Formats: sequence, C-alpha cells, structure tokens
Amino acid sequence: MSTYKCSCFCKSVQFQATLKNLDLVVCHCSMCRKLTGSTGFASLECANDVTFISKKHLAIFNSSEVAERGFCSNCGTTLFDHFKPANAFFIPPAIIENLPEENIHFVEEIYFDNKPSYYAYKNKTKKKNESNFK
Ligand SMILES: [Zn+2]
Ligand SMILES: [Zn+2]
Repeated sequence: MSTYKCSCFCKSVQFQATLKNLDLVVCHCSMCRKLTGSTGFASLECANDVTFISKKHLAIFNSSEVAERGFCSNCGTTLFDHFKPANAFFIPPAIIENLPEENIHFVEEIYFDNKPSYYAYKNKTKKKNESNFK
C-alpha cells in the first residue's frame, strides 16, 4: 500500500491518501454521471486513510443517505465519494499525483445496466448491475 498526494485543479484542496490497491472501478449510475458530468465515476479505494493538508474551498455535498461527495468550490474538481457506512473514500485517479499509471488495473464496472448506450469502454472488466447492490 502506498500513500499518494491528491489535489484539485487549483490546489486549494490537498490531501494524502493511502490506496487500498491499484484496482480502478467505474460506476455508471446516473448520480455519478451527473455529479461528474462524465461517462461514469472512475475511482480507486483508499478506505478511510485520508489526511488533509489543505481544506481551503473543500465543499461536501450529501448525495444520498449513505454517501457524500467532496469537491473544490473554487475550481469544481471532483475529489472523492465518501461511502459513510464503511467510512471508505473513493478517489478519482486524475487527482492523484505521481500515480504509477502502468500499474493501474481497470477491473470493474458497476451499475453497468445504468450505462447509456452512447459509450462503452473496451477494457475487459467485471460487470455488476444495480441489482448486485440491493
Ligand atoms: Zn480547486
Ligand atoms: Zn455511482
């Protein structure tokens, strides 16, 4: 397990996170797509091992009863999804500095049945549907 420095685009928010592993997961649920404005929310899990260096402009949005999203209120960067029942943080790879790209494995796509038809990743991943989380 390695610790990485994470930061938003404008560097107002900075923190250190210890990644659980280097397995990338993408969630295709409508909430993740809307909140990121993108084709799903890609993240790496770092459990609850997050240490803030700077919280300036850190904003928290409660996206559901079980999760909150962290973002920078200055530049808008998505910083994490905090799943409260497990106290686990899920961090998008692009905010992690010096991430060893070649060691990242895109392993899983979740809420796959929520994915719109206009995009599809070519990676060979394990697919889980919404029913897997009920
Ligand atoms: Zn920022
Ligand atoms: Zn999602």
